Amino acid sequence: MTTSNWKKAFTQLDEKPDVKRKYIKHNSPKKRAHGIATRSCKLCGSHRAMISKYGLNVCRKCFRQYALDLGFKQYR
Ligand SMILES: [Zn+2]
Repeated sequence: MTTSNWKKAFTQLDEKPDVKRKYIKHNSPKKRAHGIATRSCKLCGSHRAMISKYGLNVCRKCFRQYALDLGFKQYR
C-alpha cells in the first residue's frame, strides 16, 4: 500500500469482506472541514501553492503552464 492511494489494498481485500470492513474503519482518511487538505489543484491534485483567485483553483505550476491559454498576460 502507498500513502498516495489508500484504496489500493482493496484489490486484495475483496476476498475478505470482514477484513475489508475493518480496514476501511481504521484506515480511511479523515474528512476535513477546513485546512490545506480541503483544497487541491483541479489539474494535478497538488495541495501546495494554490491559486484560488478568480475561481481558478489550480497550483502555481499548472497556472504557469496554462496562463496564456486562460488569457493572462505577463507584464515586464
Ligand atoms: Zn496543479
